[in-house]
Amino acid sequence: MVWHSLTTAEVLNKIDTSIEHGLKSEEVDQRKIQFGSNTLTQKKTTSPFVLFLMQFNQPLVYILLAAAIVTAFLKEFVDSGVIFGVVLVNSIIGFLQESKAIKAIDSLAKSMTSETSVIRNGKKQRIPASELTIGDVVVLQSGDKVPADLRLIQLRELQIDESAFTGESVPAIKNTETILPETVLADRTNMAYSSTLVTYGTGIVVVIAISNYTEFGKIDQMIASADILATPLTKNLARFSVLLLYIILFLSFVTFLVGMIRGESAIDMFMAAVAIAVGAIPEGLPAALTITLAIGVSRMAKRNAIIRKHPAVETLGSTSVICSDKTGTLTQNQMTVEEIFAGEKLFQVAGVGFLPQGEFLSDGQTINANSVIPLQECLKAGLLCNDSNLVSVENKWKIEGDPTEGAMITAALKSGLSKDNLSQKYPRIDTIPFESQYQYMATLHNDIEAKAIIIYMKGSFESILSRCTNVMLNFGETGPLNNEHLQEFSNKAASRGLRVLAFARYICKADKQTISHDDVSNGMTFLGLQAMIDPPRPEAIAAIKACKMAGIKVKMITGDHELTALAIARKIGIADENLDAKNAILNGKNISALSDEQLIYSVKTISVFARVAPEDKLRLVKALQANGDTIAMTGDGVNDAPSLRQANIGIAMGITGTDVAKETADMVLTDDNFATIEAAVEEGRGVYDNLTKFITWALPTNLGEGLVIMLAIIAGVPLPILPVQILWINMTTAVLLGLMLAFEPKEPEIMSRAPRLPNEPVLNQALVFRVFLVGALLCAASFIFFELALLTGRNEAVARTIAVNIFVFGELFYLFNCRSLRISAFKMNALDNKYALLGVAGMILLQIAYTYLPFMNIAFHSEPVQFTDWLIIVGVGAVIFLVIELEKASQNMMNSKKINHINKNKF
Ligand code: ADP
Ligand code: MG
Repeated sequence: MVWHSLTTAEVLNKIDTSIEHGLKSEEVDQRKIQFGSNTLTQKKTTSPFVLFLMQFNQPLVYILLAAAIVTAFLKEFVDSGVIFGVVLVNSIIGFLQESKAIKAIDSLAKSMTSETSVIRNGKKQRIPASELTIGDVVVLQSGDKVPADLRLIQLRELQIDESAFTGESVPAIKNTETILPETVLADRTNMAYSSTLVTYGTGIVVVIAISNYTEFGKIDQMIASADILATPLTKNLARFSVLLLYIILFLSFVTFLVGMIRGESAIDMFMAAVAIAVGAIPEGLPAALTITLAIGVSRMAKRNAIIRKHPAVETLGSTSVICSDKTGTLTQNQMTVEEIFAGEKLFQVAGVGFLPQGEFLSDGQTINANSVIPLQECLKAGLLCNDSNLVSVENKWKIEGDPTEGAMITAALKSGLSKDNLSQKYPRIDTIPFESQYQYMATLHNDIEAKAIIIYMKGSFESILSRCTNVMLNFGETGPLNNEHLQEFSNKAASRGLRVLAFARYICKADKQTISHDDVSNGMTFLGLQAMIDPPRPEAIAAIKACKMAGIKVKMITGDHELTALAIARKIGIADENLDAKNAILNGKNISALSDEQLIYSVKTISVFARVAPEDKLRLVKALQANGDTIAMTGDGVNDAPSLRQANIGIAMGITGTDVAKETADMVLTDDNFATIEAAVEEGRGVYDNLTKFITWALPTNLGEGLVIMLAIIAGVPLPILPVQILWINMTTAVLLGLMLAFEPKEPEIMSRAPRLPNEPVLNQALVFRVFLVGALLCAASFIFFELALLTGRNEAVARTIAVNIFVFGELFYLFNCRSLRISAFKMNALDNKYALLGVAGMILLQIAYTYLPFMNIAFHSEPVQFTDWLIIVGVGAVIFLVIELEKASQNMMNSKKINHINKNKF
């Protein structure tokens, strides 16, 4: 069907629906059976078999396979078998981890469902987008993700970002006119396609295709995705390991040549070259990184932070500035109108929360709100110019929609005005929806009784006042505006942290059918002001304290009034109590007036930004970044998308955020709570810490193994460890020991360190030194005790078993050094990481098997050793452990001296 070439009437007729009433429940049920649900069928992911085969597609595995094949030709069948076996085990482990990570990511994707507004049975309602069916009438609004393929029927300035299809970043301007059948998708101005984003305006539209039959569904089916965890760190390491590979291949080759020149046998030298290659390559690294990141992602999800773009897991750890919304993120969004100023008079409203019970007071006396005309008009405006609903669920009053609007519904209900009743008397004809850049909303109503057409309008005090020419007085008559009294009330309320909204109305000509921004630009009658409290979230106060400890600056960026913003900022500890407004706050106008250089300077100290428009937000992020900071920034509206993209971590609100914001964000907060950002940063630091620990732990083995082989070749003595033995060490220790570091709980002082600098290398100088120290110790110990064993007349197999055990037990003891890179191992509770203890127990059992079980002896050329040998093996491990603890202590001492020195110089 070519829907775009039909007229809107033909479309509605063909699809059998009407835009006033939508589908009836029976029709919906019947069509759902006929067309199925609006979900993309599970797209073909990489089949498990292919995923398994992909594990072999790695340079390291090529080398191993080549080694195995050559060894088989050399008739070393046991060795060849062992190498094949190791490759297989490696692939199985990689396969299991990768499928687990893919599953975790998939389930996160599923937890993000979107909702949509439909008209069914003549009523507008919110439903999950998956419940849409053909012929449903959908109401699109700026910020929505288009939930299905749609033919546009009625629009108001609808613009849609279709870059996903067309690559065109400028939003497409839509209309409802019929176009030629052969028009290509990108030019179909009367259609909207699933997964594109509404960036402006509103529209009433009809669903013409759902699920896999949408244009997006068709493309989606064609791309099989395997979304693997990747972050800057893993990408750098992947690049690093390719480089490492070439270096190692080169060294192996040189070793081979040196040996040949010295007249050694080609087979021996080939085995030595293979030993270096397999020993020096850290094969366990990629798997450990993936698992550590996956654990981080799921820990964050448990704390209500959904990671949408993987690099965020890592970037979170280096966040140095958090820019947060005020309303709903730092505050509870439990708005309650406390005061109303109308007709030159102040009224108090009693009651707490959305429970519509409480009386109106004036001068301490209870009054009948219906007897005061301007007060009643003010409440009426709040109720009619309102898109939210107050519902009672299980005796609790809940708001569906915007809590600011909920407060007005509650206040109006307290005076006896109900929304249902009022909207019958004053049916709405048209709407200008609220957008933060305009700071107001207006609606057009038909006053049936008075046979008049009225505009009601609400918004920020400034935006409304500038559009009014007179004010409604005590008996409903109008008079000149007395700005001073209004200003005084507004400032007083705002200084107490109240959010103030203003109301206005306008009586139009009788034939008015639609309204635009021009219609409300002047001549309005001011009705009054409602001031509502929105208490800070107690957990936000604690989280801000924690951020300060962690060297993270918190900035508030809000569309609300300066004084309201400042009062809340003071209450929750963002703004210093002693700082006066001038030094603590910048508003949108100030920001526009500043040059980029001035702004870069100002953002260093100022932490409250009020009456901020989305464009200012983008400039703010850029200015903060110019100071070298890593920025996490929240946003919820369509216009926040550019700043969310610019921020190092864009954070969208899960509850109040638009689909557009969620789509662009790196992370989504399912509870809209500031404290969740702090928790995610903490987890991010933990993940990075554990990655660093793993790398610090893993590298010395590879280094030590490579060194000991080269040493043996240069010295012209037998290899202390054979290739298959190296493979054994690397595989078993990486899985049983190293991987357990991923389960290491966060260190208690993790949130009292300064944020990591973005360009800081994973291993600092001290850690590089530690890696070399441990590598050298492992090399020296295994070489010396191997040679000693030979000197005392023992055979090579026994000597090698000792050398292998020295490596394994060295790594085992060193694991306890690595549980913290700073804190002394003696101060840590060994029971805090039970996985590590289990791993250690498993490792010891495996080494006993390796040393004593006959089939292991055959496979790995090992041989039983004596009790005294174990004393040496464990002794070496213990010495390494003690040496590293000493090194750690001296590093700590040097660091604290450095800090003291810096501090002394400062004062
Ligand atoms: P915030 O950062 O507090 O969420 P917004 O950008 O949402 O700020 O709002 C800015 C201003 O617009 C508010 O201070 C208020 O005066 C006004 N406003 C907020 N919500 C609405 C609404 N639903 N209708 C009309 N005006 C509103
Ligand atoms: Mg808001």
